[in-house]
Amino acid sequence: MKALTITGPSVAQVSQIREPKPAHDEVLIRVQRVGLCGSDLNTFLGKNPMVTYPRVLGHEVAGTIVELGSGVEADWRVGADVTFTPYTACGGCPSCRAGRRNACRDNKTMGVQRDGALTELVAVPYQKLFTSRKLSLTELALVEPFSVGFHAAARGRVEAEETVLVMGCGGVGLGAIAGAVSRGARVIALDTQEEKFALARALGAREVVLGNADARERVMDLTNGDGPDVVIEAVGATATYRNAVEWVKFCGRVVYIGYGKEPVSYETRLFVMKELDILGSRNCLNEFSDVIAFFERRTFDPNILISKSIPIEGVPEALADWAAHPGRTSKIMVGMS
Ligand SMILES: [Zn+2]
Ligand SMILES: [Zn+2]
Repeated sequence: MKALTITGPSVAQVSQIREPKPAHDEVLIRVQRVGLCGSDLNTFLGKNPMVTYPRVLGHEVAGTIVELGSGVEADWRVGADVTFTPYTACGGCPSCRAGRRNACRDNKTMGVQRDGALTELVAVPYQKLFTSRKLSLTELALVEPFSVGFHAAARGRVEAEETVLVMGCGGVGLGAIAGAVSRGARVIALDTQEEKFALARALGAREVVLGNADARERVMDLTNGDGPDVVIEAVGATATYRNAVEWVKFCGRVVYIGYGKEPVSYETRLFVMKELDILGSRNCLNEFSDVIAFFERRTFDPNILISKSIPIEGVPEALADWAAHPGRTSKIMVGMS
């Protein structure tokens, strides 16, 4: 069967791999939609330290069950459209023992530490499946990136009436905007690309700020000079990592989802002086159900996120194009059939 494989930095190709067979507790899924995310772009560019090559991409997936393993629970049936969590949890490490499987020490995310599902078929344990009769396949494939953003809002303990600054309006940043808005917060969205602002607003961001030299002043103006209650950093750049602690309110919370590409030095006295809560946010925990419920409420149309729909053969060119024009791309959706 066909698979999209990254064989080395900036080399993507459609290759042939063996078809999987479902194990006892697995279902076989005919893959229909796969979203590409910023981490896929980093994998393609050789900037993801967790990836070794060759690697099959694909962790934002929707498809149809075509076969059930003998031990799969009865409520799953052939023909159902599903999405699934692409992570693993060992069950024994300190994170897993604390009920925080999303940060499992030995986690292996599809398309990152192990091969992904940008393929025709994939076998997945039934315990990782989620479904909704009300959502389309494309919407099901958008649940994972939104869940990562929702988890960041949960980590930041975002509450109604609080002001949340979300830095970065890529797939995960947009999910964080939606997550904070769904908790009743007032959201300010920041990005260096003006093209992203229409989407940020559609998801409920009340204000948008262009990430230039005046950004700090704008954010302070919008928060009576105090700074936001919560800053969610969804970029992974040195400047945004620093700005998050510099701009956040005294006694505020900073949540980092962006993977830093290099070491960052800080004015650490701000941590103490402001008595900050500085939090990391990784993958997601129970947010798949929250996001499915959020999509089902139809307060916005998730399909507006899709900037391009392509077949698997178009992925190498789409990745190269995304690398060259990062502002133009929000979500590339690959249609497998
Ligand atoms: Zn992703
Ligand atoms: Zn674990």
